[in-house]
Amino acid sequence: MRTEEPRPVRLRDYRPPDWLIETVDLDVSLHPTATTVRAKLKIKPNSAGTPAPLVLDGEEIKLRSLALDGEPLPTENFVATPDRLTIAQVPNRPFQLDIETVVDPTGNTQLMGLYRAGAVYCTQCEAEGFRRITYFLDRPDVMAVYTTRIEADKNEAAVLLANGNLLAHGDVPGTSRHFAVWHDPFPKPSYLFALVGGNLACVEDAFTTMSGRKVKLAIYVEPGKDERCRYAMDSLERAMRWDEIAFGREYDLDIFMIVAVSAFNMGAMENKGLNVFNDRYVLASPLSATDNDYASIEAVIAHEYFHNWTGDRITCRDWFQLCLKEGLTVFRDQEFTADQRSRAVERISDVRGLRSHQFVEDAGPLAHPVRPELYHEINNFYTSTVYDKGAEVVRMIGVLLGPVLFRKGMDLYFARHDGQAATVEQFVQCFADVSGRDMTQFMRWYSQAGTPEIKAAPHYDSRARTYRLDITQTIPPTPGQPNKEPMVIPLALGLVGNNGRDLPLVLDGQPLARGVLELTRPSQSFVFTGLAERPVPSLNRGFSAPVKLALPIEPGDLRFLAAYDPDPFNRWQAVQTLAMTLLKANVAALRAAAPLREDDGLMAALGAILKDAKLEPAFIALVLAPPSEADIAREIGRDVDPDAVFKARRALRAAIGTRHAGALADTHARMITPGPYRPDAHSAGRRALKNACLDLLAMTEASDAIARANGQYRSADNMTDRMAALDTLSLHDRRERTAALDDFYARYADDPLIIDKWLALQAAIPEPATLDRVRALTSHPAFSAANPNRIRALIGSFAQVNHTQFNRSDGAGYDFVADFVLALDPKNPQVAARLMGAFRSWRALEAKRRGRAEATLRRVAATPALSRDVHDIVARTLAES
Ligand SMILES: [Zn+2]
Repeated sequence: MRTEEPRPVRLRDYRPPDWLIETVDLDVSLHPTATTVRAKLKIKPNSAGTPAPLVLDGEEIKLRSLALDGEPLPTENFVATPDRLTIAQVPNRPFQLDIETVVDPTGNTQLMGLYRAGAVYCTQCEAEGFRRITYFLDRPDVMAVYTTRIEADKNEAAVLLANGNLLAHGDVPGTSRHFAVWHDPFPKPSYLFALVGGNLACVEDAFTTMSGRKVKLAIYVEPGKDERCRYAMDSLERAMRWDEIAFGREYDLDIFMIVAVSAFNMGAMENKGLNVFNDRYVLASPLSATDNDYASIEAVIAHEYFHNWTGDRITCRDWFQLCLKEGLTVFRDQEFTADQRSRAVERISDVRGLRSHQFVEDAGPLAHPVRPELYHEINNFYTSTVYDKGAEVVRMIGVLLGPVLFRKGMDLYFARHDGQAATVEQFVQCFADVSGRDMTQFMRWYSQAGTPEIKAAPHYDSRARTYRLDITQTIPPTPGQPNKEPMVIPLALGLVGNNGRDLPLVLDGQPLARGVLELTRPSQSFVFTGLAERPVPSLNRGFSAPVKLALPIEPGDLRFLAAYDPDPFNRWQAVQTLAMTLLKANVAALRAAAPLREDDGLMAALGAILKDAKLEPAFIALVLAPPSEADIAREIGRDVDPDAVFKARRALRAAIGTRHAGALADTHARMITPGPYRPDAHSAGRRALKNACLDLLAMTEASDAIARANGQYRSADNMTDRMAALDTLSLHDRRERTAALDDFYARYADDPLIIDKWLALQAAIPEPATLDRVRALTSHPAFSAANPNRIRALIGSFAQVNHTQFNRSDGAGYDFVADFVLALDPKNPQVAARLMGAFRSWRALEAKRRGRAEATLRRVAATPALSRDVHDIVARTLAES
């Protein structure tokens, strides 16, 4: 428990460390409650000058002994507390420090540092977990070479792993214990340290790198789960090959290992050569995992592997630079998925996620720049802004420079900063150097929070044959940033002619390079010449910039773009824009007790796309999905009634189901693929479309549609179809739902990862009875508050997915989540703080809910002994901006 007064850490206060640690020799003797850690640190002054005291970070550790250059240090020469070790006088030259500490892995419920996941010992050190293992300069700009000896009882931990290459292993004579010694030749920060000990099964393979080196690949899982690692191994091999081709990056150690553990605060962790994974991102079989699970496994395996260069070989100077590794690596994994699957589908999916999470975050009290300038608790900055907007910023550099210069810039970054702890400035400078561009103004993407709003006004002059776009940009105020400066915004566009083809873009007598306008000022005009017809504008193609775009455009033009835009993203966007307009109008109608509108144009556009046999099924499935509830609420912006948002969206889905019943039923039948399940993108796309049709048909409450869903649930030979049918049934309060839910539990009761789906689905049911159901499930044997996956499935799904029931007008949803958070906080503050993030849009709610949410937030804020994690989130959520 950390209860000290919060003291912010500021980017501008950064100072290089006074001391560096060159090598770390660890000797870890594993024991369930008293693990001994002997650390031998080779320390040297960072620069000549006045000798500084040595202050090492710690957290909840007990010191057993301390020696300097082999001599035990008298107790009066140092101060050791559970969170700090201070030695006032150390020699101003290289010296060796020997520290022996004891930690309790079983008692470690925070799951940071060394802990036990079930019976497996594992570590999580990012961001500040290494200090829970030994006293250390626990900051990313202290990079050391690690040698790790692990010792354990053979029966308890037959497998002993750490970063790097295996040097030696053997028995400890005269005991039941054994040991392994691992050496990682690449200097790394402490947050990338890892060790694992346990009884694990191993699946092995080999990979030959582009220069012909043979690398051993090993995935470790619970015994009996080996068969479920095949897809993870296949994804890893494809990721390794792709990084060689797309970025010229080759793997560097003799072995690459992945360990799947059942209790993990995050998705996965890129420890050098030894990635530790939440098992949900490793284990998959047709009967246990959905297509989305397969896609997530592929993406997360790739993401962590890509960190080997963007994160491990080149790391971050300090935690303010987190986006340097995360934004860049998300960009890389998105590109990988685009190449492996479908570029259009990947882009649309990424933007849907960005709008439902990052745009929502950017519009509320937790808004912060991609590179924050201040934090109280760094764990709270593993956010959609740092990851997803961070990826968008890298993508924009690529849009501005074009693919050839972008690759040159990346090559320069890898060459120039290999082995260093770098900054965002150093990264961006590489692109400035290869392109000769001044990137100073572009850097505002890293420092200014908020989603830029672009307004475009078109004017066509038929006599002059010119088309003028007057464009303004504004960036709304965000906490701590009332005034904003204009950004560099790359706006890809096309002008579409009557025949559905792009017209030439001639600006100032020159063809427009790559079709990209560069906005740099608050308002600008662009005049395109030589246009014999009035074009239909297609702006922000491929979502070239993460902005909100307002363009006065006729519904007829949107329907035209939905049918003909050569840019698939904007075909999808045109339908979304039509749907959003209707949804906003109908939310207002519902609140005024006025009749709901329909939109024949939107229906016609959907009908045409549904019948277009040239389109990818996965793309059609995305077009059929209206904007998310979170996205609609954000567009409305204030005085939001989540019930009205839900009803308007459900009414639109029912209207689509009714209007296109015939085409949906035909498509559903046409998308049924005979033969065994295959997880590839094409097969997954067909299932996605099939199941989207099924769900829309059931929205009409037609009995044959419910029967069809019920039939699919019963006869499915794979989890995707079974889960999709259950998802559909879950939205209809009928006896088929109860029967299917009971059947699902009976089938999968002994498989926690599958039961997580069952928990999450029930928590997301948009009905008033759900809160009682969720409350009852917290005492179900399948639930455990000690396991983050169970918490995310049940409580996380309720708080973050179920907008109507979390935001119940009686405030009971808020109180339930708050009470859960307060009970969890002393055990796992990181996961507790994550759950509190569900309150981030409270100010945008209508008055009654806003009052209830505020009362709950104030109650949490007033609770004594809150963790720094939860305190920070609640304080920022409540702060007046
Ligand atoms: Zn990452």
